[in-house]
Amino acid sequence: MDSRGFREAATATIDEIINYFDNLDSRDVVSRVEPGYLRKLLPSEAPQEGEPWADIQRDIEAKIMPGITHWSHPGFHAFFPCATSYPSILGELYSSALSGACFNWICSPAVTELETIVLDWLAKILGLPSCFVSTGPTRGGGVIQGSASEAILTAMVAARDKYLRETLPPRPSNPSDAEENAREEAVALKRSRMVALATTLTHSSAKKAALILGVRFRAIRVRAEDGYALTREALAAALAECRAQGLEPFFLAATLGTTDACSVDDFAGISAALETSGAVPPPGQPGEVWVHVDAAYAGAALVCPEVQRQTRIELISRFHSFDMNMHKWLLVNFDASCFFVRNREWLVQALSVNQAVYGNKASDGGLVTDYREWQIPLGRRFRSLKIWFVLRSYGVKGLQEYIRRTIKLGEEFAESLRSRPDLFEIVTGPSFALTVFRLAAKTEGASLEERNALTRELYERVNAAGKIWLTSTELDGRFAIRLMTGVRTTQKEHVETAVKTLVEVAQEVMRG
Ligand code: PLP
Repeated sequence: MDSRGFREAATATIDEIINYFDNLDSRDVVSRVEPGYLRKLLPSEAPQEGEPWADIQRDIEAKIMPGITHWSHPGFHAFFPCATSYPSILGELYSSALSGACFNWICSPAVTELETIVLDWLAKILGLPSCFVSTGPTRGGGVIQGSASEAILTAMVAARDKYLRETLPPRPSNPSDAEENAREEAVALKRSRMVALATTLTHSSAKKAALILGVRFRAIRVRAEDGYALTREALAAALAECRAQGLEPFFLAATLGTTDACSVDDFAGISAALETSGAVPPPGQPGEVWVHVDAAYAGAALVCPEVQRQTRIELISRFHSFDMNMHKWLLVNFDASCFFVRNREWLVQALSVNQAVYGNKASDGGLVTDYREWQIPLGRRFRSLKIWFVLRSYGVKGLQEYIRRTIKLGEEFAESLRSRPDLFEIVTGPSFALTVFRLAAKTEGASLEERNALTRELYERVNAAGKIWLTSTELDGRFAIRLMTGVRTTQKEHVETAVKTLVEVAQEVMRG
């Protein structure tokens, strides 16, 4: 494809993308294809001769679109949103054109420097304490990761390294073989006792990180009466129990906006438990517990000062890391997981592995940030560009308006359910545009199993109709439906349609 061909193809592609967004409403939300559908439509070998763009583009609608579930559809109420927006798409275009594996500053200084700047902007917009800003008092800063899962794994690697460094004697400068072996033994013994803590509503990525690192994992039970949040008492009890069993808690995953219920752990309670439990060294002391705040979805709402106040986000200044996905609810397309640490040295100490081929004057002089030392992969894309475009195109006010609008849609949805106590019971929420609900009891004394079965029937029937897509969860044995209103294209009328559909199907299910 030459420049002329690219201009024509790109123009046609942009036109098609605009049409796609303008007419999304007319498609079903969820793909209805059967597994293996695409193999039947595509040849078994790649073409020997190049094909014209028009033929390739035609296959997008004919062969690919049937297998697409439309995450930007206004009826997409499942999981959490996976955002996109025109400025973000433009950022991706430039990023693809300027393609490079920008792991070191010298590989493209703008890639590194823009990332540091936009993440500082973001930290300030979200109201994060100044320790998470690169120019802040503790040498903190932000880095873009591929996903919240990658971020929590990175945090846990750094936490493990910090804990071992702080709790084992320092490595001798010229260790003998015997000293080397003894140290290896001490590290292995220590690692076998180290435990990462989370809650029963923490996202599975915390457990996966512990699995990858080969450390123990404990989930602390959270309860409906505490709003499904981790409390001071529950954490203190878990710390004491670990200690009594000879285990060493080194990491805690706290959540701002759990996936199932959008609950927020009690940051003040967590600090107090760590400070006073006596089971672990208090914050700031060697061997302290690293606290990572996973705000993958709900962190986006911190663009609104009222949410900063309500969540008391300033309390995380004694925690160690924080992550939120702009690609969920903040109009930047996948991937843009924004990961902040209070001291970037913790990452560099854990992840810096030198290889002669990557040496250069700027890095060796220690004057620059080389983001390869803040992450697990080596190569990295120019992801800050799309963040920069979105922040500049929408402005902070535009982002606030969008978040407030979608939170309000969630409140209106919940209000509609509340007005029909004969049909629905809210299990939790609305919280950050997520409401979790189930079918009301049909008769006094209906069993949990009966209610679960009826709620499941409602859920399956609504999804089968194809116009909206919901996901479900289970809280304390109660099967419940989650409805999220955070997608950019979702408007009041779409939420009204969702309510109408739910009411109609719920009545049918109730009638049996
Ligand atoms: N943490 C929370 C609270 C989530 O809700 C999710 C996904 O929805 C994740 C982590 C995992 O996100 P990612 O796909 O970026 O790894």
